[in-house]
Amino acid sequence: MNEELVKIYSSFDIENMASFLDKLVLFVKKNHSIFLKYTLPDFLEGMEKIKSNEMVFGHTDENLEGIINHKKELFEQGMNKRDLCESVLTNAWDVCIYKTEKVCPACGDENLSVTVTSNQNQTVLFCEECLFTEIDGFSVEVKEDLIPANKKQVENYLQQI
Ligand SMILES: [Zn+2]
Repeated sequence: MNEELVKIYSSFDIENMASFLDKLVLFVKKNHSIFLKYTLPDFLEGMEKIKSNEMVFGHTDENLEGIINHKKELFEQGMNKRDLCESVLTNAWDVCIYKTEKVCPACGDENLSVTVTSNQNQTVLFCEECLFTEIDGFSVEVKEDLIPANKKQVENYLQQI
């Protein structure tokens, strides 16, 4: 698995993150049973359904090139399966997550991200730092797993504010 990821991560291009995301999603699907050992099933299924042509790219405040390069080096050294699975899903999330201008009211450390419940029914603002969740301006506890919102869902959110 590490070797294949070195190839995928080497091909990362900040100008074409859709292609990188496609490769990651395909990798996850191919190794579904391994990912399932370390991941909640609903979250995994939600991430596997992500279609790159429906997503927005480059709206994270993370240094993507730095992160991807660092992970590539770790894959080259050989990463254990648990960390490997977590890294792939986190990086798939990072490339297509939409971070808002709104600072988390709970921790104040991080801007909220636009996510949806894994059944796609509800748009939720989510803090990656403290896991705070907000729906329609109210702090609400969300039991479902959250995945990055797609372009349409992000646009709907932006129209409401
Ligand atoms: Zn927070």
